[in-house]
Amino acid sequence: MSVLIVGTTALDSIKTPKAENPRLLGGSASHAAVAASFFSPVQLVGIVGDDFPKRYVELYKKHGICLEGLQQVQGQTFHWAGEYEVNMNKRRTLNTVLGVIENFTPKLPDAYAKTPYVLLANISPGLQHHVLDQMKKPKFVIADTMDLWLNIALPEVLKLLKRVDAIVMNDSEASQLTQTDNIVAAIPKIHKMGPKYVIVKKGEHGAILSGPSGMFVAPAFPLHKVVDPTGAGDSFVGGMIGYLATSKGSIETNLRRAIIHGSVVASFCCEGFGLKKTTTVTKKQIADRVKQLEKLVKF
Ligand code: AMP
Repeated sequence: MSVLIVGTTALDSIKTPKAENPRLLGGSASHAAVAASFFSPVQLVGIVGDDFPKRYVELYKKHGICLEGLQQVQGQTFHWAGEYEVNMNKRRTLNTVLGVIENFTPKLPDAYAKTPYVLLANISPGLQHHVLDQMKKPKFVIADTMDLWLNIALPEVLKLLKRVDAIVMNDSEASQLTQTDNIVAAIPKIHKMGPKYVIVKKGEHGAILSGPSGMFVAPAFPLHKVVDPTGAGDSFVGGMIGYLATSKGSIETNLRRAIIHGSVVASFCCEGFGLKKTTTVTKKQIADRVKQLEKLVKF
């Protein structure tokens, strides 16, 4: 089954202690869409400006991503610039230019409204609501968010939590949302805000899923070298929903394996700048890493 993904389609300028890469293909929706495309057909909802390179459009196409919902208009593409410290867990935003995303109120193509799986990737909660309003009885909706929206649009985030099946956020955002340092204690508080499934990402330490059948602690794939972790969270949730959409049986049954597949795609994302590594990975490499991860946690 297909997955609809809305989020940022961006140009990212990324600086690490070792290298600097300007204007890479990035954005929450780009990372998530490429990740999901390994498993399921993807429909992308986003907006880019007239500065968006054609080769990036070709890259989406190479992954079979449906671009009927990708608008190209006059103006600047959303641009994010960030810098990592030697400890790659620490990054700071150097600059954000909203550009054409500022006035983005997408009207979904008719064919998109009945898509069963929906990923509201990181973008303003107002836009996440706007897209969800146009969906007709989706089977599964998951939303991602970030600290910025908890700071400047909390009421809209809280409203969104009541409308989605699952929320994914990182540990610091879960603490911020619940005013609770301990993640295990924060999770039931997030359930009370609405979502049946809560997924808390802990970067290189994996993720915790909580749902009706309890908790699942998923490892991250251990890497010798991280080149650029930008988009790892988006790849994680994209890979996860892509895998879910292709799996038979209930969400509850498939969610654990879906999370493992998300972790594996995220690990590839970290091994190259922007989408450079993810876009060269094969399905076989993903399957092999899933097997390795299974061995690593079996006891
Ligand atoms: P992650 O590393 O998973 O947090 O995601 C990084 C991606 O988020 C980059 O590709 C950015 O283009 C995108 N991004 C940065 N700031 C924002 C924002 N305010 N809203 C949505 N996406 C953003």
